[in-house]
Amino acid sequence: MRRKIVAGNWKMNGSLTGIAELMLGIKAGIGDIQKAEVVVCPSYVYLPQLNELINGTEIKLGAQDLSDAAAGAYTGEVSGPMLNDFNCDYVIVGHSERRNNRGESDELVAAKFKAAQEANITPILCVGELIEEREAGITDEVVARQLDAVIKLCGAAALANSVLAYEPIWAIGTGRTATTEQAQEVHANIRTKISQESPEVAGNLRIQYGGSMNAGNARELLSMPDIDGGLIGGASLKAEDFLAILQAVEVVS
Ligand code: PEP
Repeated sequence: MRRKIVAGNWKMNGSLTGIAELMLGIKAGIGDIQKAEVVVCPSYVYLPQLNELINGTEIKLGAQDLSDAAAGAYTGEVSGPMLNDFNCDYVIVGHSERRNNRGESDELVAAKFKAAQEANITPILCVGELIEEREAGITDEVVARQLDAVIKLCGAAALANSVLAYEPIWAIGTGRTATTEQAQEVHANIRTKISQESPEVAGNLRIQYGGSMNAGNARELLSMPDIDGGLIGGASLKAEDFLAILQAVEVVS
């Protein structure tokens, strides 16, 4: 039985006071949430603050990115070992906003995946297609190409220590959600692809859905057999919306 995992990707949002308020709101309402593993991913500069605020709770800390290098002359980069200093259990790699807006290649994303695991941080590997790719009927090929880059560099067994996030790019931040059938189909195809490498890894692998998941649609999406949680952008910025998604996990699990 895969435990569902819900992660809030706060992106480049927040301030010292805003982050404290959001976190206090989440902590105030999280009392009876037990079924989901909960992760918050603030901007790097707020990791020390969040590390303190989540102390004594079950909430885990994640970063939104990391360098593929461990240390050295990489101006502006943040390494896995640095994230260790703030108790990051997770790190997002290959978010579409980095693949598409910052030109990260499949190979660089794979190198970041490897760097995360070398620092004992669990990568949340994002995969997903552009609207043109979906319309051209090549969603599965695109996602397979993104996964294959990681499998080539790290081996399929490495996926055992990771979380995947299927994020159709056309659904991110657009309010346009994949239908439950569209999402379930891609999730199932991902699992089938990985089971060709290792049925055990595929069976245990948690695959989150990301793309305008919110309080209104979470229950339906999370009740699909291959959707093991959510990577949440916009709806994770309001405590009550994020808590409503966590409540949906309580109901469907
Ligand atoms: C994301 O950025 O990972 C995401 C899923 O964003 P949103 O929920 O806002 O679509």
